Amino acid sequence: MNVKTPAPLAEAPLSRRRPTREEAEAAVRTLLLWAGDDPDREGLVDTPARVVRAYEEFFSGYEIDPVELLARTFEETDGYDEMVLLRDIRLESHCEHHMVPIIGRAHVAYLPHKRVVGISKLARVVEAYAKRLQIQEKLTAQIANTINDVLQPKGVAVVIEAAHQCMTTRGIHKPGVSMVTSRMLGAFRDDAATRREFLAMIGMRGTAARLSEEG
Ligand SMILES: [Zn+2]
Repeated sequence: MNVKTPAPLAEAPLSRRRPTREEAEAAVRTLLLWAGDDPDREGLVDTPARVVRAYEEFFSGYEIDPVELLARTFEETDGYDEMVLLRDIRLESHCEHHMVPIIGRAHVAYLPHKRVVGISKLARVVEAYAKRLQIQEKLTAQIANTINDVLQPKGVAVVIEAAHQCMTTRGIHKPGVSMVTSRMLGAFRDDAATRREFLAMIGMRGTAARLSEEG
């Protein structure tokens, strides 16, 4: 299983001890100085505290166990065995190389095998992995692998389309470019018709041909 929940910080070695809030705020103050500004001026004086609170929100996924989110399933499905698709899930993550936002959307589908899960839980799994430091490829794989491992469906498909602010606001400055990643497991990988149906449902016909070729 590719799911890695970080060890609780209390058990981490001393070198990886979680800093105190004051230490985290001091680090933000250092970055303000590094940017060339005066952290003591009126507009910035509360910024370290605000940034640390924002970080608690941006990275709240470390506190969530995605496996536990999917633990409660329903078996009374009257034999429903068609695709379940959650489309256009808003995705907000942060790139682990630059710590700037990755903004986009995720599409998550699975083919149930006896068990289904509350539909909001799929969105919560996306969020649990998105609210960490990520690269899009790993995020895509983690979501698909967790659903596959826990629900053991006949197949799982995850597509993420996202813009990386490290590409749009710095470096090569390419706004309007989005990155598309996909992870297909089970029937979505083995059966081209199932994969095409999924890609058509998420409105990626152009992409469908390419992804089908890649298998
Ligand atoms: Zn980056």
